[in-house]
Order: sequence, then structure tokens, then C-alpha cells
Amino acid sequence: MRIHTTGRAGHRSSGRARDWTLALVLGLVLALPLAGADRERETAALAKLVADAESVWRLAEQGQTVEAARHGGVIVAAADRLREKGRLEEAREQYRRAGLMRPWDFGAKLNHADVLFRLGDAEGARKIAGQVERLAETDRELALCASFTKRIQTEPLPPLRDVLPGSGEIVIGLVPAAATDRWLLQAVGRQVEALLGGRVGAVEEVLDLGAPNRNGRVFLAADLRRTIPWDDPRMGMVRLNGEQLYPEKLGPDQVIELMRTLLTREANGKGLEALAARVAAADKVLQWEATNILPRLRAAQPQTGQGRVIYTVLVPVDLYAGGADFVFGSASADGGYAVVSYARFAAVNTGEPPRSERLVARTTKQLLSSIGFALGVPRCGDPGCARSYPSSLAEHDAKDVALCGDCRAGLAKALGRELPGGRE
Ligand SMILES: [Zn+2]
Repeated sequence: MRIHTTGRAGHRSSGRARDWTLALVLGLVLALPLAGADRERETAALAKLVADAESVWRLAEQGQTVEAARHGGVIVAAADRLREKGRLEEAREQYRRAGLMRPWDFGAKLNHADVLFRLGDAEGARKIAGQVERLAETDRELALCASFTKRIQTEPLPPLRDVLPGSGEIVIGLVPAAATDRWLLQAVGRQVEALLGGRVGAVEEVLDLGAPNRNGRVFLAADLRRTIPWDDPRMGMVRLNGEQLYPEKLGPDQVIELMRTLLTREANGKGLEALAARVAAADKVLQWEATNILPRLRAAQPQTGQGRVIYTVLVPVDLYAGGADFVFGSASADGGYAVVSYARFAAVNTGEPPRSERLVARTTKQLLSSIGFALGVPRCGDPGCARSYPSSLAEHDAKDVALCGDCRAGLAKALGRELPGGRE
């Protein structure tokens, strides 16, 4: 063991300083030509990208639309790089072409609007942003759109504290979670108000959903279970951490571990790699248990006044309950609290092109369903009614954003008043 005296430490310190100065000088000498070379490489890469974008565009001009659209990403990439480099005139033309090849690329559209705006064409920027604004499903995109269109939201929902119920009255309070898109909360609130009458208020306080209750390993394990050769006599020899196997008792992590053991035994490198990739993907899939959220909501929003508030939290995260892989929503059996998820309705998750109207319709149907349960109205069997049970998104889409006669009567009774309008 070396003993450092202060004297030596001082000496070493000056040595370090010298080394550091030398490194700095050397670094500068080396860095200058390197930076130049980097710049040249970068300029050459951009020139190549622009040339590629030009050839894709030529395909389009020659009428090979499908082929050109397939490579439309090159035009978007060229436009983005040109914009980053401040070559706005060139970027404008590339974005114009990108818009024709890839009209659903909202990121490119909004960058196009930005370039137009910076070039002094505010009207052009407003027009492009307006196209996105009509369809976009996220607060982030809508805020960007509004920065160009200057659209002002029409009549937001009143805060719940302004519409608290009087004695015997029931109002609906929509509660956001942290990442809930507020435009959607507002839009569905207006829909529910129009369909159920009465008053709907927006709760300002955000509900903390807590940590997710499970991840995608549940589904991965279920999948793996089907491929594991349980009846193979050699399986009897497999031990997991020294324990004998009882397939039905294995949890998701153990099933995955078992698969890893089997693949390792076979020296199946490719299989192990694929499994690791699937586990990593499964860890990114997060779900919250609906029945866990309801007590949190109740604790955060106790019933205090004379009437009753049906607190309904709108969440962007995926929910499950009991043995179900997922649920769109849930309500407390004793009433007053409901949770609705729009995770499986949103284009960002379904892979559909965004369409805000569709998202509003889907979410409103689920709200009517869950609010109905929170009010004690039984499940509905009319396939066209908003409150009938959908076993898929397709079935959910096939329903009307309206209630059948029975549900209308049930809700009117529970709310103690007539519902507006009626279905022809
Ligand atoms: Zn019904």
C-alpha cells in the first residue's frame, strides 16, 4: 500500500496539470482538421440525401406513385435535414413533395408549417397546420397546430367546483391523469353533457395512478406456454432453480426462465437472442389494474356535498381487470366512481391514421357505458347501443354514440330527470 504524503501529492498534482495541458493542446491540434473532415462528410451526406429525394420525386413525376410513396421517407428525411441546416427554401419544396407522398405524416406537416412561417408565409403555415388540427389526437400536436392557426378553443368545460350538485342532484366530474390529453377530456365531456343532459365539470386535480401493476411478460409467458413441449419426457429432467416443475404453478417470469433454460440446453443462440428481444419488448408494455385505480380515485375525490358526483377518470394507459387481458373501463359496484381508458382507442397505439372524431366517439361510448354502471344501470344487450358489451374494437366501432330505449330509461331513472333528445 502506498502512503501519499502531502508533498508528493503536490508534485503529482503539477504533473497532472502538465498532462492535462498537453492533452488539451494535442486535442485542439487533432480536433481542428477532424471537425473540418466531419463537416465535409456531413455536407456530402446531405447532398446524397437530397439527390436520393430528387430521384424519388422523379418517380412520382413519372407516374410511379406507389413506388415513390414507398420511398417517401427519403423526401421527409431530406426536408428535415435541410430545415435543421436553415436551408429553408429547399426544405419548403421537399416538404411540399413530402405532403403529396405522405399526407399522414403529421410530423412532416408541422415542420412544413414551421418552414412556411419562418419564410414569412403565415397564411400557408395556417393552412397546413389546419389540415393536421382537424385530425390530430394529441395535446402536443394540437398545441403546435394552434401556434400557427391561432384557433381558440370554444367554451371549455366548467371546472367541477363551479357545477357542484345541489341536494339530490347528480353531476359528472371528469378527472385527468398526468398524461391524459386534455382536449379529449374536454371533447368527451361536451358529448356526455349533450347525451345525458345535466352538468359535466372538469376536475383540475390530476389523479396519480401509481406504478403499473403488470407488464407484457404476462402475454409473452402465455405465448411461450403454448410452445413449451410439456409432454416431452425430457421435461421431467428440467429443474428450475433446483425445483421440480409444476407447469400450472409457474408465474410469467418462471415460464420465461424455463424457456431460457431449454434454449440454453439446446445451445440455441438465435432462439436465446429472440427471447431476449421479446422480453425487452414485453417490459415496455405496461398495464394498470382498473380495480386498483378506483379506490385511489375515491380517496382523492371523496363525496362531500349534498348531491352526488360521478367521478370518472380518463386515462391514457392500458387497463386490465381480473382474468381479462385488457378492459376499456370499469366502475365501482357501489357507484360514484368510474375509470375509462382510451389507450386502445388512440391511433398512436392502434396503428390507424389519427382521427380525433373517431377517438371522441369511441371514448364517449365507453364513458356512457362506465357511467351507466357507476349509476347502477345494468348491462345492455342491444348491439347498436353505446352501452352494449364489445368483444373487440371493431364491435365497439359498430355501436352508435347513442343509447337504446332501455338504457335511456335506466339512466333517466338513476339521474332522476329526463334525458335530452332521443334516438329516431
Ligand atoms: Zn342500451
